[in-house]
Parts: sequence; C-alpha cells; structure tokens
Amino acid sequence: MKIAVFSAKRYDRQFLTAANATAGHQLRFFDELLCEDTVSLAAGNEAVCIFVNDKADAAVLKALAAGGTRLVALRCTGFNNVDLKAAAELGLKVVRVVTYSPYSVAEHAVALLQAINRKIHRAYNRTRDSNFALDGLMGFDLHGKTVAVVGTGKIGCVFARIMLGFGCRVIGYDKYPSDNFTALGATYAQPGEIGAKADIISLHCPLTPETHHIVNAETLARAKPGALLINTSRGGLVDTEAAIEALKSGQLGGLAIDVYEQEADLFFRDLSSTVITDDVFQRLLSFPNVIVTGHQAFFTEEAITTICETTIASVGEFAAGLPLSNEIKAS
Ligand code: NAD
Repeated sequence: MKIAVFSAKRYDRQFLTAANATAGHQLRFFDELLCEDTVSLAAGNEAVCIFVNDKADAAVLKALAAGGTRLVALRCTGFNNVDLKAAAELGLKVVRVVTYSPYSVAEHAVALLQAINRKIHRAYNRTRDSNFALDGLMGFDLHGKTVAVVGTGKIGCVFARIMLGFGCRVIGYDKYPSDNFTALGATYAQPGEIGAKADIISLHCPLTPETHHIVNAETLARAKPGALLINTSRGGLVDTEAAIEALKSGQLGGLAIDVYEQEADLFFRDLSSTVITDDVFQRLLSFPNVIVTGHQAFFTEEAITTICETTIASVGEFAAGLPLSNEIKAS
C-alpha cells in the first residue's frame, strides 16, 4: 500500500523503513504536519500515518477521503486529534498504537519528578559555571510522601509501581477503576481527596472533553500547598494560565511537563533562532520551578521500534482485509 507519513522526522524515517523492510509498503515521508493546508500531499495514498499534533478534523478527513485515503494510522496512543465520528461517516478506518512501552512514559514522568524535586536542572547549570553552592537546591524525600495518579491505565500503573518502590503512598483516581492498580498496593480516592492529600500529582488519563482542563484554578486551589504537578499525558489536561497563577502564589510548588496545550506550534522542531510569540509558554519557562520537555516521554528505542512495527502491522491487516487489532471507533 502507498502510505503518506506526515510530521516525519529522521527517526520516523529510520524506524518505519526498518519495520517496513519485509512488508514492502510504499512509504512517502513528508516533514509537514497534516492540516488543511497540507492534506493535498496525501492524494493517491491509501493510508496516511500521523502523529500527536497532526490535525485530522472533519475538513481534513473529508479531503483525505476525496484523495483516495481509506486508512488513518496514528503512530501514537492518544487519538484526541482525530474526529472519529467524521472518519466513520466518511468510511475511513482509524488505527492507533494501543500499547508500546508504558515504561518509556512512566520512567520519563519519574525523571521529571526527580529533576523538579531535587532541582537537577539548576544544579546542572550551576556546576557548569563552577558554582557549587547548595542554596536553593533543597528538595524533599520521596519516601513517605503521597503520590496521586490520575488515570490508572497502563502508564499510570507502571508509574504507581515505581513510586511504591520509592516508599511512597500511592492514591489514584480513574473513571473506570481497575484491580491492576489496587493489586500493586495502591488505593483509589475521590478527586477532592486526591487534591487535599497529594504531595505529588501525576496525570496519565487521556484528553477528552471530560478531562479538558481537569487541572484548573478551582482544583489547584484545593490542592495541598506546595504540591508538585507532573504532566506527561496531554497539554489540554492543564489550564496553563491557572497553573501560572498557582506557581506565582506558591500554591503549586513545581510543575514539570512533557506536553503543552499549544505545543503544536512549538514542539518537534528547532526554534532556537526564532522569537517565540507564545507569551504564556515564555512565562512558564521563566519560573525556576518549572521544567518543560518537548513531548519526548515516548522517545526510547524500544518504544519507537514497537510503534513503527505495530503501525506497519496494522497497515498489513488493512491491506489483507483482516480485522484491525488496533482499530478505534467513535463511542
Ligand atoms: P490507558 O488507556 O491504558 O490508560 C488511561 C486511563 O485513563 C484508563 O484507565 C482510563 O480509564 C482513564 N480515564 C479515562 N477517562 C478518564 C477520566 N475522565 N478521568 C480519569 N481517568 C480517566 O492509556 P495509557 O497507555 O496509560 O496512556 C495514557 C495517556 O498517556 C494517553 O492517553 C496519552 O495521552 C498519554 N501519552 C503520552 C505520551 C508522551 O510521549 N508524552 C506517550 C504515550 C501516551
């Protein structure tokens, strides 16, 4: 099959080409993000392969279908950027990578937590300038602290298990509680209790209309003063302007994010010679107790290999007319 791969970086080309070696599909790589302005590039390709910030809204899907596309293959887990209802109406199938490495994201969340708590980002800069003073670098023991996990699915459970290993008390909230979480030795709590008790809150639920700005001025006001917030899930879970106010007042003790609501205009490219015009993002970067990584939590060799192999396998299933193991449908 002919597959148009959007937002294709060097590593996408390398790992997708390797995964496709025996499958023999025709891969056409495009640097461009999929959107209304670029959708014409997909014409004549039966499948498009897209990533987290590609836009597959109703207008783009309509243009894809008109150009002969029949399959949208997301090379990621989240699918908040695809209008599934419109895809179904147009007869387009949508697949994603349901499971790759939950360890990649959970371990990155732990890395962010350790860095923001022990001020590793500041220490790194200081010691390179031969400044070995410790003032301002004090953290706290994770041992004995209460960690809240919001979204106790695959990644949330791996994160919970690691935090239990640190000697933390782990509480969680999920719309659909699971025995996998409690079997680890963690317990479920109501959202209000999570805010009041947690020293650390880590977000691992999907972005849906229901979870949009799940962290907002109201929930932040109810949080334990000085709590740390970690977000490796989706930027839209956090009202960034409310988080900035909470950082300014000290209500939020630190923020470490791998995702940002307006990241589509920023992430996955080198903007080091560009003036960033997003003032909210620039304000975030000005805090000493904020760390931002550019949506790299998934970025391990194991994860990318599985993502690319699963994507090529899904295209193979579609080409062979087989049931699609990783299909997502509008609920
Ligand atoms: P998963 O489906 O295994 O787990 C998600 C959990 O969230 C489920 O248990 C589900 O019941 C729960 N949930 C759904 N709606 C909820 C709600 N309204 N409130 C609370 N919980 C709710 O998914 P996963 O593999 O653990 O991935 C979680 C998220 O991580 C993905 O949706 C994606 O947004 C994000 N992610 C980020 C990266 C990255 O590189 N930063 C990589 C992969 C995934």
